[in-house]
Amino acid sequence: MNATSGAQSVYRTASDKTFMDWENRVVRLQDEQPLGLYEDPDGFFRSEYQVGRRLVWVRCPHQKGCLACLSQTDELLPEIWAVIPDAIALAEDHSRTIYPGFWLPHDESTIEESRMDVWGIRITPVTGLSSLHVSENHDFPWARTAYAKDDEWHERPLRLPRFPDGHFVDLDRDASGALSVISSRQR
Ligand SMILES: [Zn+2]
Repeated sequence: MNATSGAQSVYRTASDKTFMDWENRVVRLQDEQPLGLYEDPDGFFRSEYQVGRRLVWVRCPHQKGCLACLSQTDELLPEIWAVIPDAIALAEDHSRTIYPGFWLPHDESTIEESRMDVWGIRITPVTGLSSLHVSENHDFPWARTAYAKDDEWHERPLRLPRFPDGHFVDLDRDASGALSVISSRQR
C-alpha cells in the first residue's frame, strides 16, 4: 500500500484528517520544533515531534537534530500515514485473538468506529523501518448505548467493555511497506 492508493477514502479518525490538513499546508518536520531530543542507550539520537495527536520519533545514528534524517522522514511520512488504517485493523485482529470476550459484543454492535488507534510512530529513516504503537482509541464513544446489528428495535442494550488497562499492540512496517505484529501487552 502506498500514499497514492486512494488512502484518503479509508481514513477513519479525526487525527488522520489532521495529518491531511497538516500535509496540505506543506508543514514538514524539518521546519518544526521537536518536543524533545534524546540520546538512546542503543546509540541512536531520537527527536520527538507531535503530529496531530500522535507522537512521531525520528531515530538517527549520526547526530542530534540530524537534518538529513529529518528530510528523509518527511518523504516517508505520507506513506507511513497511509498505512495507519491497515495498522489499526491488524492490531484489532491481533487483539481479537487475545481478548475474544472483549471483542464479541463490540463486533456484534452497530458502532463502527475503531476501538484502537495509532498513538506513536518510531521511524528510522536510514533503514526505512518504522514501528507503530496501537492502543485504545480515546475518541471511541465508550459511553454510548450500543445495540446488536440484529436488534432492530433496540430492545436489548449491549454493554460494551473497555480494554484492560495498558493493552497495546506494536507493529513494524518494513521498508517494503509490509506490516507485522511484533509485541503486545495482555493480562
Ligand atoms: Zn541522521
